[in-house]
Amino acid sequence: MKVLVINCGSSSLKYQLINPSTEEVFAIGLCDRIGIHGSKFEYEVPATDFELELEHDMPTHKEALELVLNTLTGEHGVIADINEVDAVGHRIVHGGEEFTTSVLLDEKVMAGIEANNDLAPLHNPANLLGVKTCMELIPGKPNVGVFDTAFHQTMPAKAFMYPLPYADYTELKVRKYGFHGTSHKFVAGLANDLLGNPANSKVIVCHLGNGASISAVKDGKSVDTSMGLTPLQGLMMGTRCGDIDPAAALFIKAKRDLTDKEIDARMNKKSGILGIFEKSSDCRDLEIAREGGDERAALAIDMMTYRIRAYIASYAAAMGGVDMICFTGGIGENSNLIRSKSLEGLEFMGVELDEAVNSVRKKGSVKLSTETSKVAIYKIQTNEELVIARDTLAIVK
Ligand code: ADP
Repeated sequence: MKVLVINCGSSSLKYQLINPSTEEVFAIGLCDRIGIHGSKFEYEVPATDFELELEHDMPTHKEALELVLNTLTGEHGVIADINEVDAVGHRIVHGGEEFTTSVLLDEKVMAGIEANNDLAPLHNPANLLGVKTCMELIPGKPNVGVFDTAFHQTMPAKAFMYPLPYADYTELKVRKYGFHGTSHKFVAGLANDLLGNPANSKVIVCHLGNGASISAVKDGKSVDTSMGLTPLQGLMMGTRCGDIDPAAALFIKAKRDLTDKEIDARMNKKSGILGIFEKSSDCRDLEIAREGGDERAALAIDMMTYRIRAYIASYAAAMGGVDMICFTGGIGENSNLIRSKSLEGLEFMGVELDEAVNSVRKKGSVKLSTETSKVAIYKIQTNEELVIARDTLAIVK
């Protein structure tokens, strides 16, 4: 079984050809700057370490996918014929309230996804374009949609409702949806395996990358998460502000005479780490600057980890305890400093990080808690593409 996993953005297309049963990755790569001058193509075959990187004109997603398919079947390809692709799995950002699990994509389902475009105007149209292009260039193969929001559809109303006029929910669908669901699902699943799959479990997953979110997963189901109607709510992120007083946005907009688009960009692209540190949005730069005595870098790290810690404690309270805290994403998997500072002061909850183990770099899933810790602490490498491939296999079977 070979599943082509597609993550299609407005100007990029990430792909992987995977066997979901054996987890073997045959090929992996990226088309970047689609429709922009200087389009880039990357292709890698993990089994042979073959790598290809070239500039290639890709005016639209169609040329990008054509290049992917020609490379997969070409001289350095991993399949002889495109018919060896059994199915295509697509990442779809927003499934609204309709899509609570992954689905087989057809005209009707795609119209349903399109109805949620308003909720994710930057992502959903691009995701759907990826689906249509695959249907055209790989005809006759099933396409499956896997939603970022689906895993969080198990949240109870008390967690997902905003205390706004009720009609804003019924008429405009304004509520908390949550994102990064594929990653939270993968990590929480692995956490439950590590716990020995008990009948009842309480897991907190911290997905910390450029975008960051935390979820509370009780008995395998998401019961709360930090992102909201959009991926702006919650933690302080690379360039996103996360939780602020909503009135602050209106105040800044009025005082600085900004348009809606400008205030939106200020909160989504100029805030977070970048907003406070000002020199970069990258956590590695931030840590190096802090080492060098940069006070703003130290402040940004204090703010970021204070918020992570507060979310962890509140989710433990929401679930009536916690068995395991997991860190994933580029920062969660790699930064011992952020993990350590995020857990500082949580000893009252029985959280004890083994600093010696935490400071050693190791790949894969690693237990980071002490033997006496009441709460297990792990770093777990996330794998959203594998979840998409597995869901695709389950549906086409
Ligand atoms: P995205 O949300 O774009 O998928 P990633 O999950 O790739 O993001 O995470 C990117 C973040 O991970 C960046 O802030 C980067 O600095 C951080 N990161 C990667 N490696 C390290 C490291 N060794 N130490 C600290 N931060 C790291």
